[in-house]
Amino acid sequence: MAALMLLMPSATADNATTTRTFAVGDARIDVVATVFPATTEPLKVAFVSVHDDEETAVEAAGDVLRDLGGRLVELRHTGDREVAFRLGSTEHRIDPNRIFTPAGRRATLAALSTWSQPADDVVAAFTDELLSTLAIDDVDVIVALHNNTPDRYTAANYAPGGSLAADAARVNLRPGGDADDFFFVTDPGLFDALAARGHSVILQNEVTVNDDGSLSVWCGRMQIPYVNVEAEHGHRTEQVAMLRDLAAAIAERPPHRGSRTAAAPPPGCELVDLADIDPSFVIDNRYATTDNVTGIRLYPANTIYLERSAAERLARVQASLRGQGLGLKVFDGYRPLAIQKALWKVKPDPRYVADPAQGSRHNRGSAVDVTLVDAAGRERPMPSAFDEFSERSHLAFMDTDGDLLANRETLQKAMRSEGFLPLATEWWHFDAPGWRDFPVMDANPYSEPLFPDSQLKMESP
Ligand SMILES: [Zn+2]
Repeated sequence: MAALMLLMPSATADNATTTRTFAVGDARIDVVATVFPATTEPLKVAFVSVHDDEETAVEAAGDVLRDLGGRLVELRHTGDREVAFRLGSTEHRIDPNRIFTPAGRRATLAALSTWSQPADDVVAAFTDELLSTLAIDDVDVIVALHNNTPDRYTAANYAPGGSLAADAARVNLRPGGDADDFFFVTDPGLFDALAARGHSVILQNEVTVNDDGSLSVWCGRMQIPYVNVEAEHGHRTEQVAMLRDLAAAIAERPPHRGSRTAAAPPPGCELVDLADIDPSFVIDNRYATTDNVTGIRLYPANTIYLERSAAERLARVQASLRGQGLGLKVFDGYRPLAIQKALWKVKPDPRYVADPAQGSRHNRGSAVDVTLVDAAGRERPMPSAFDEFSERSHLAFMDTDGDLLANRETLQKAMRSEGFLPLATEWWHFDAPGWRDFPVMDANPYSEPLFPDSQLKMESP
């Protein structure tokens, strides 16, 4: 997809600031990361400003981070709050704080312009880059910086009877304070600490919060402590004081990330049996047989699950191949973390198997291993076998018959044209663009236990 291929970062750096420029359609967004040196070993806190018109917040963060040290990531494009971009002849527009969940991307594109799958995929890819720049896998706390216009978005909106009451589990309103200056947090300990310091503060209700795609909703789902420091435009002194109190509260009682692994799919995530989405897939779950790199049966049945949006995307690839007398054979999809650990034990090589400490995109239900079959379901020959750990599996490998390379290219083209992202070292592996929407899961969607040959069960490392 042309729009995705354009999404190539370019980097420039000085001592403290790194700017990476991303293309979202025809728009260019600078993701500017500034590292302020710390005198003491700081908590891993990432500060982020996603609205390009909220200058007070960026200035206040600079004032505080120059003293405390830390990392600030901001988006820069046109100086506007929203990002406008064009794909082909279609104009799209997003609020960059509504792009962190599938429902949010759909709603912001539809509300501000029009939704389309290619536009959604481009925005999802940008979201991934932004979260990567935040070093999201490595942080203890995310601090979002925002400015608001007087009396339009205030702490009082979250009080009982307010327009945003459903988003709040607890509300502390500072008597006589300016309701435009407040904290919005996901961590109960930080709620208490900031309330005790006399601030207006809202605790997000993780059950009833509206899924508007904001970073707070995503952080809540991923169990990453999140704080929004919200102040009126121009309230630089007030926002500096809030940030200093926040830093003190964090230092006094550091919030902790919850488990990085979900025991069950969270709201908005559904693992589906591929055969239920399209019965024409050829299902060949090698890990349900002894014919795989571990030599033991890991799954109890020849069934493959995927997160619903990825499964529906794969069904669109299947439909496009059908017109060419071809189809897909699927080797693996959603992979419980326990099985990732078993694979890592056999092949602890990050080029081929993701380290279970980080988790694989397979563990999020968003990666799939596939090959091409003809109309009779026979595999088309490829440059290497599935799960062959050699350079013959790499996309750059060219030293073989032209028809094998043509088959590989037919598969790559069909998958990419529906937005799937390839992997340079495995021709059979593809990620869905919204893979960061879902957590690493250790759920068992099968009706029987994993590791069916229990005498061979591999202990988790
Ligand atoms: Zn794979």
